[in-house]
Amino acid sequence: MSSTPLTPIRAVLWDLDGTLYHQPPLRRRMLIELGKAALRQSPAATLRMMRWLRCYRKVRENLRGLGHAESSLDRVQFDQPAQQLRTAVEPFETLVRYWMLEHPLPYLRAARFDGSAEILGRLRDKGVRLGVFSDYPVRDKLKALELDDFFEVQLAATDESINAFKPHARGFLAGCRALGCPPEEVVYVGDRQDVDAEGANAAGMRCIILDSQQSGPGYARDYNELGRKLGV
Ligand SMILES: [Mg+2]
Repeated sequence: MSSTPLTPIRAVLWDLDGTLYHQPPLRRRMLIELGKAALRQSPAATLRMMRWLRCYRKVRENLRGLGHAESSLDRVQFDQPAQQLRTAVEPFETLVRYWMLEHPLPYLRAARFDGSAEILGRLRDKGVRLGVFSDYPVRDKLKALELDDFFEVQLAATDESINAFKPHARGFLAGCRALGCPPEEVVYVGDRQDVDAEGANAAGMRCIILDSQQSGPGYARDYNELGRKLGV
């Protein structure tokens, strides 16, 4: 953690994808599901589906550069790639929402990180306030992970009041405000140095990156180490 260790931790704000569940097994499962869909439709429909999903992901990653956007990011994230693909936005949005948000839900629980519920429970018992801030909508995923009861604050970058993807500081600061704590008393837990650590630092928060391959003060290899670093 970057700032003084003497500052008490009164709240922890979490990233969701890759932080509360392990992404590789979910990605493998979604590849199987896409393969099953390919068997039920024409090769042309499958090619279109793959092209649409690839374009959505690319545009969404590029939208990070917009910072705090003037128009609704919830719209821009669909309108812009549909425009690039010269396709109607409605079927594009329906397909993307299905594959990115709805279809993965039943498979999330099996990918939940070992020890996550225990660490969250210990933090809650200690009186530490807990929230989630993610680039994607969080409520359905938290329910599917069976972790929603732990988090009193649940925010997404596309919420009207935020409208900025990470690493813009806006969502991180909104999380601190909702948790009722100044940024220096809140730790952000994420899995990406370039968006999570950068955004947290920009907001004046400490950050711990969950990464099984890294060690050092700003990293935790697993939930056991994370718990120790959070003092539980
Ligand atoms: Mg993540």
